[in-house]
Amino acid sequence: MDLKKIIASLSKAEQVELVRLLQYELNVPKLAEIHCGQSKDAVVHCTHCGSADIYGHGTYKGRRRYQCKCCRTTFNDFTGTAVSGIKKVAKFQEYINLVLESVSIRKAASTLDINIKTAFDWRHKILSALSTFNGASFDGIVECDDKQLDINEKGSKHLNRKPYKRQSDRHTKRGVSNDKVSVMVATDRKGNPTMQAAKVGRIDAASIEASIGKYISKDNVLCSDSHKSIISWALSKNIEHHTFVASKQHVKDKCYHVQHVNSLDNRYERWIKRFYGVATKYIANYLHWFVCLEKLKKASQRATDMARIILSNIKAMADYRNIEASYQNLNIIQYSKT
Ligand SMILES: [Zn+2]
Repeated sequence: MDLKKIIASLSKAEQVELVRLLQYELNVPKLAEIHCGQSKDAVVHCTHCGSADIYGHGTYKGRRRYQCKCCRTTFNDFTGTAVSGIKKVAKFQEYINLVLESVSIRKAASTLDINIKTAFDWRHKILSALSTFNGASFDGIVECDDKQLDINEKGSKHLNRKPYKRQSDRHTKRGVSNDKVSVMVATDRKGNPTMQAAKVGRIDAASIEASIGKYISKDNVLCSDSHKSIISWALSKNIEHHTFVASKQHVKDKCYHVQHVNSLDNRYERWIKRFYGVATKYIANYLHWFVCLEKLKKASQRATDMARIILSNIKAMADYRNIEASYQNLNIIQYSKT
């Protein structure tokens, strides 16, 4: 096959289309290859009991199978990952590119010729897998902020609260709305952000600790607004903390400020708009998604990097099945008024 001849026989428009198709094709991460590449030397652990005492159990549909000597469970390369149980792997790996482009469910469904329900499920399987990438220990100065998002129960059959009878029912005794979910946003200066759903209602020291606490230590210096709970949390952890009031001083000692976290916040707002309101039970997944896009912004092989994250998370399917329960967990606040 003389490729040059074939290319010469194409019209200019066809050549341009060929380049587009090739670029697209080359960008689609090949899940089976990536998995082999990353696990060649890695020890395989049982997905059920965690034991490393396993034997090979042949291959099935291109996936290596294993059996655990301890619990006798059989599993394969993709067990537990977002890819497990996916029959159309070729389309699923193409979907990773579409997630990187933040395309809508409708657009993804038509591009891949799959139905809307499948496109929706695949999106959330992939996003559930990205959780491991949302949050890592911070380096140096950390800026943090809390943001309130409206609670959106679209698609839910049952409201999590009693319906409001009057306007004042929307507020707790301290005047803070119960229809908001608080998200903790934090970033260091090395492009390592995290965004974690913290609590329904107003944040307190406990929800700060549970959401971003494990990523911040005494070695960091924290900058934030003067939220009382952030101040008391930082004090309890013995973390150097500088606070800022938006209308007053903006930078201390030339390096302490909250401009990075504010601009991160603005980018999130611009990005999330395209989805026209996100059901709160999926908010954690959208936060993983946005953080992942931010962290991969400068990566040269974004699709392959994202595929690696997806394949290395063997808890993804469990998280995906637990979306509802995780939301209920977040929803620990009791609606005090009747
Ligand atoms: Zn086992």
